[in-house]
Amino acid sequence: MSMEYVEFFEELKKEDVDIAGGKGANLGELTQAGIPVPPGFVITSATYQKFMDETGITQEIMDILDALDVNNNKELQESARKIKKIIKETEIPDEIRSLIIEAYNALCHRIGKENTFVAVRSSATAEDLPEASFAGQQDTYLNVKGPEDLMKYVRKCWVSLFGARAIFYREENNFDHSKVYIAVVVQEMVDAEKAGVMFTVHPSTGEEKILIEGAWGLGEGVVSGTVTPDTYWLDKATGKILEQQVSEKKTMFQKKTENGQTVQVPVPDDLKNKRVLDAEELAQLAELGKKIQEHYQFPQDTEWAIENGKIFMLQSRPVTTLDMSAAEGEAVHEGERTVITKGLGASPGMASGTVKIINSTDELDKVQEGDILVTVMTTPDMVPAMKRANGIITDEGGVTCHAAIVSRELGIPCVVGTGEATSILPENSQVTLDGNKGIVWEGKLVETDKKQETAEEQPVAVLQAPLTVTEVKVNVSMSEAAKKAAATGADGVGLLRTEHMMLTTGVHPKKYIQEGNEAELIRVLVENILKVADTFYPKPVWYRTLDAPTDEFQSLDGGEDEPYEHNPMLGWRGIRRELDEPEILLAEFKAIKKLHEQGYTNIGIMLPLVQHPDELKEAKKIARMAGLKPQKNIEFGIMVETPAAAMTIEDFIAEGLDFVSFGTNDLTQYTLAIDRNNENVADLYAESHPAVLKLIERVIIECNKAGVKTSICGQAGSIPTIVEKLVELGITSVSANTDAVATVRETVARVEKKLLLKAARKLMQE
Ligand code: PEP
Ligand code: MG
Repeated sequence: MSMEYVEFFEELKKEDVDIAGGKGANLGELTQAGIPVPPGFVITSATYQKFMDETGITQEIMDILDALDVNNNKELQESARKIKKIIKETEIPDEIRSLIIEAYNALCHRIGKENTFVAVRSSATAEDLPEASFAGQQDTYLNVKGPEDLMKYVRKCWVSLFGARAIFYREENNFDHSKVYIAVVVQEMVDAEKAGVMFTVHPSTGEEKILIEGAWGLGEGVVSGTVTPDTYWLDKATGKILEQQVSEKKTMFQKKTENGQTVQVPVPDDLKNKRVLDAEELAQLAELGKKIQEHYQFPQDTEWAIENGKIFMLQSRPVTTLDMSAAEGEAVHEGERTVITKGLGASPGMASGTVKIINSTDELDKVQEGDILVTVMTTPDMVPAMKRANGIITDEGGVTCHAAIVSRELGIPCVVGTGEATSILPENSQVTLDGNKGIVWEGKLVETDKKQETAEEQPVAVLQAPLTVTEVKVNVSMSEAAKKAAATGADGVGLLRTEHMMLTTGVHPKKYIQEGNEAELIRVLVENILKVADTFYPKPVWYRTLDAPTDEFQSLDGGEDEPYEHNPMLGWRGIRRELDEPEILLAEFKAIKKLHEQGYTNIGIMLPLVQHPDELKEAKKIARMAGLKPQKNIEFGIMVETPAAAMTIEDFIAEGLDFVSFGTNDLTQYTLAIDRNNENVADLYAESHPAVLKLIERVIIECNKAGVKTSICGQAGSIPTIVEKLVELGITSVSANTDAVATVRETVARVEKKLLLKAARKLMQE
């Protein structure tokens, strides 16, 4: 067998992305590290290339693409259809067919099961292309059985390279279609007799303890929280069992053998109260846990399964629930610590570096890789310098200001609202900031390594997020941060902010319109929204129309005529401004219409700062002018950010909308009369104030009655104690910041379980 066309996991390393794609290379890396992942092989990009070249269809396909205008949707769809037909109808040369079938038979032979069930997944070979546009996350086929089925799905993976969206994406981003290849991963599906999860450290404190949870059958039961698993705590150093709790396991998930579908069945009586893992199995799992952590150099949250007594690791990803200041292993230097200033912890983590004070955007070049950026308040044009910085400190702002939002999304520690940093921190001095506690110390106290792998770069075996009924989404403000946000496994984007993408052009959106250059404005929007919609496809992405206060426009080219406002937060912003300047809103809707036509129907629209149903009505009219059909072919909703909207939500429901999302950053400031950017009153700013919660409660009740979805995308959606209340009230989804998704998901799962238990107990008493 040629080693080049089909490679078993044992033969691949993480550098083999070119031939095996990202997924295939990672599985190879894990296998080689001695971690038992379910066995399998990769049909390499060379096989795809050979198929295309030997059959002579490459040229035929390139000719179709050369003649195509991707902006003509009909033509695009037609070309995609033609290419699909060509790939589907071209006979796969015998040599390739035999190579693939031989590998499948070898796999079956190795695991001792004839015609075993496998998962077939497309594996992207160009790392800078998001997975979705490359082939589509949807191109994972589970429970594939037998050579004929296998060939069918391999071909489907190849075809997926030429879906309409994929073609459009490559054109928009100038990728050469003929240089993009695809690999296909074929992996055994484990039919577990027991399965569960394992954390290689205490998931919240980071202590050196291993936590293992296990139940009977496939892992779905434990991961989704349907089954209460046995719990075991082990000492990491000695392997000693510290604590164990055997629970009653009533149901389990099993694979129905004929078609491989999963079913939930009762646990046989003799197993219900039986301990799932014996001492030997616990010891083996703990050893594996240590090995995986050592391999990734970071605590891991894993999923495991045992089939016929053999352990398999199905997934591994970094533990994201830890207090990062302790978990990143940053050695805090002992000795005297002098606090220089204090503010609000706005983005978690500790960072040391050289102070660079930025008084105007001309000075941004001063900030070098690893410095600490200190400024009065950040603006969108500071983002490139913010990315270079190790940490950020501001004079002004609360936890929902620009600096806070952007830092959290970039994963950079940040302290806001010190009131004095720019005047008291000496330029070029060394400082350390704690983004949890909001403290700035003198001197260099930690070794921060910004180059540490982000969640997105960490290899994983199979990505699967724990299931919750209440969806857990993520907020995105910068399209370049979409991949990192998606790596959280979030169920979609509950807030895609427009301000960043529009304001970083440096040109006032109105200027484009005045100069007759609406097309350029639309192009910028399409380019940015596309990155997010594509990365998350087919999960929903709610695009929020422009909502920048007037002070943020002033420094832009064309922003000279921006009015000066005493209270920009209460001024000309959000939907009220957009309805006064409908050309910008129309351009936004046209951009979305264009993306919808290219297949990105996962994009929905959300209006900010509404206070009267007429605003919703007007905006819908403008959307119709752009060719969109609100509530018919596109999800349309509003943010509830004003007490007015909350108090009259019934009238908005009567006007018609698909969803509402609580913008608690604004709702809190308007309910409590606290300017969210004013550090002098920041201590009174509380989303948990009963008045805010009452407003939220009434909206959820009314919306649930009317079948309108509810969500939250303000900072309160990242605060576990508030999320708990919202889930109890019956909210449909919660959208958190990238850094908070994992914690929020855990909170949601726990509350859902608590509610189920409460209901069950109540039933039992009746
Ligand atoms: C909010 O107000 O809660 C919100 C999410 O919008 P922004 O922070 O962009 O005003
Ligand atoms: Mg808001």
